[in-house]
Amino acid sequence: MDNKRIYLSLSQQSGFEQEYIQKALETNWLTSGGPNVDDFENKLQNYFSEESFITALNSGTSAIHLALILLGVKAGDEVICQTLTFSASANPVLYQGAIPVFVDSEPDTWNISPEFLEIAIKDRIKKGKKPKAIITVHLYGNPYKVEDIHAIAKRYNIPIIEDSAEALGSSYKGKKCGTFGTFGILSFNGNKIITTSSGGALISNSKESKEKAIFYATQSKDVAVHYQHSEVGYNYRMSNVCAGIGLGQIKMLENNISARRATHFFYKDLFDSIKNVTLFEVLHEDYFSNYWLNAILVEPILEKNINSENLRLAFEKANIECRPLWKPMHLQPIFMEYPYYGNKIAEDLFLKGLCLPSGSNLTKEDKIRIEEVIKTFFDY
Ligand SMILES: *Cc1c(COP(=O)(O)O)cnc(C)c1O
Repeated sequence: MDNKRIYLSLSQQSGFEQEYIQKALETNWLTSGGPNVDDFENKLQNYFSEESFITALNSGTSAIHLALILLGVKAGDEVICQTLTFSASANPVLYQGAIPVFVDSEPDTWNISPEFLEIAIKDRIKKGKKPKAIITVHLYGNPYKVEDIHAIAKRYNIPIIEDSAEALGSSYKGKKCGTFGTFGILSFNGNKIITTSSGGALISNSKESKEKAIFYATQSKDVAVHYQHSEVGYNYRMSNVCAGIGLGQIKMLENNISARRATHFFYKDLFDSIKNVTLFEVLHEDYFSNYWLNAILVEPILEKNINSENLRLAFEKANIECRPLWKPMHLQPIFMEYPYYGNKIAEDLFLKGLCLPSGSNLTKEDKIRIEEVIKTFFDY
């Protein structure tokens, strides 16, 4: 067996990408925006629902930034954000000069805790500042406690930006992730469920919001023949070439979700008999995960040198890439000074957690190599 590197999360091509890119080249449509972008947006819109308006952008991060702008978040405002996430969820809060307020996870879904969310909202209001928005995350594709969280947000009348970057294809009670908040965002980075090489999308629920998003994403040009601007603009629109890759990739969406889910059940079988390992999975059948990344918690056994970092090193020795969970935002040097509400749940998950190879391109041979490392490490 060869020893080529197994990566954590790669997508696979449908073979149609080339055709769409070629068309963009032939028609010399190489700008941001264009026919591929419109087509890609329409295909996504069909995938979601008629009430969802999709704006294709150059990254998921830009989509979060635009959502904050559209919600009127300004310097000095406070924005609540789930602490256990990738830094791209929180960075745009700083772009606006606003203040992130971090909220812990709960142990069932590893996502934002309803209990600490409400504590945080009440305390911020008491301190004189009602949060302007809440950024929630469906971590590794697993939906958060949608009903609890949205009920709290509604009670205090605070809009939600649903970071669905990792959750394209996931749903809660049959409704797709990305459509619960005032805004949802997707990412088409190279490691996500489908890719445009680099790209993202903003999901909104009105044509007006979509038009406003495009306005900001294309340098805020006023209606005039000459270039006139009355607002700060951004260069955030998706390019027609990247959208071509997306059109090829979207043909793979169902396939990629099934492949990632099959990998999840491969891990489930494998870890069933290993007592000190817990596989991250959905709470019950209301939750449907694309299982973008599989993660486990390893309960350390001191005398056997068993812990998540040693497991990662064992994988590394076999040229297999694994990674710790996202380091919680409130522990990051850049975010440490900001308020945090919680009880160290995310910290504990971070200490014991490990993400395992989950790409939709994993082969049978790759899985045999992964299984070998696990069996040897846990000695069964
Ligand atoms: C990937 C990711 C993003 C950002 O997406 P980009 O397209 O890379 O900018 C945001 N949030 C989460 C949780 C992500 O995993």
